[in-house]
Amino acid sequence: MNAERPWGQEDLLQRLASAVAGRRLPQSLLVHGPEGVGKRSLALWIARALQCEPAEAGDVPCEACRSCRMAARLEHPDIHLHFPMPRPKRAASRAKLREAIEAQRHERLALLREDLHARLDPDAVTGLYVAAVENIRDQASRRPSMARRSVFVVEDAERMVPQSASPEAANAFLKLLEEPPPFAYIVLTSGRPDALLPTIRSRTVPLRVAPLPTERVAAYVAEHLGVRDDDRARAVARRAGGAVYRARTLVDSEAGESEAAADALLAAALDGSPQARYRAASRYSARGARGELEPALEALRLRLRDMLCVAAGAADAALDPDRTKGPGAGGDRGVRGAGGEPAEGAVLEALGAVDAAMEGVGRNLNPQATTALLLEEMSAAFAGRSTGRTAGTPQFAGVLRGL
Ligand SMILES: [Zn+2]
Repeated sequence: MNAERPWGQEDLLQRLASAVAGRRLPQSLLVHGPEGVGKRSLALWIARALQCEPAEAGDVPCEACRSCRMAARLEHPDIHLHFPMPRPKRAASRAKLREAIEAQRHERLALLREDLHARLDPDAVTGLYVAAVENIRDQASRRPSMARRSVFVVEDAERMVPQSASPEAANAFLKLLEEPPPFAYIVLTSGRPDALLPTIRSRTVPLRVAPLPTERVAAYVAEHLGVRDDDRARAVARRAGGAVYRARTLVDSEAGESEAAADALLAAALDGSPQARYRAASRYSARGARGELEPALEALRLRLRDMLCVAAGAADAALDPDRTKGPGAGGDRGVRGAGGEPAEGAVLEALGAVDAAMEGVGRNLNPQATTALLLEEMSAAFAGRSTGRTAGTPQFAGVLRGL
């Protein structure tokens, strides 16, 4: 399932569902609210509610009928999702240009089917250019192909480029907003409604998606993003400013950092040289907070768990199979050392060392020294010469306590 129920907006969803069931939903809507609050999710939810087959029964969208299922996969032929894209290359004719822009849109739809929250063209200058607006206008004038209605979701409508070059396209679009064909619904979204062309604003009914209280976002972070530590979940929620999808981006980028840190630790341990271990450990401060090392250790533990699966001949049970497929499969983030695959026993010992380091971090031990000791243990295990201070043995704990 790709599309999802917008989180934490129950009151709004209930009002909308009853408006759809009672055929009171305005045909031209403007969904607005801050970045990351879930405008795309809500607009697509409205589209599903409008297309849900047993719509009159009340509880829409049912998420079970054929229509809802197609819509959830972004494959409903009468739900059209448009968004700003890079300016198209020059084309031989207007018709060719419009074809090219439609092809570009379909490429991006394929990406969104993989991940609804994928950031399209993050670094490019994008807009809803004239040719795209003409496509929307034409598609909206055609009868729906499967359902009784067609729904157009047009994202970031403030990026609609002023159309002085083609006033007739602009006028046709405004007319579409003002008097859509009886079967067409248009849902615009905008994070900056103040930047919308006034002619667009005045022709749509605004629908605000409000940011959520910090506690609600913290609950989302804990339940859906797997952040178990309450303080961390709340810190993320505060930084997200009430926007659940911004919280998701924050957690993802933190996760990216800890993945990279885990890779660096693993590479140093596999390298085995004191220099490599020293370099890796010196990235951590001697007097740091536990938050500095803990996420990297968590990521490292998952990585070792996958190595254990491979070593035990159960590669299909790995959580991140890409990393374990073979040398070069994950580029320089592969898990193999120069000496080939570490044996099962060695990985188990390394896991024990990570557990001990986690325990040390929990007692606020010096992150740099903890890392140095961890890497020493791990490389000894990988080199097949255990130090004797293995998993949770009193010696290891004793060394850690001494730090
Ligand atoms: Zn349905």
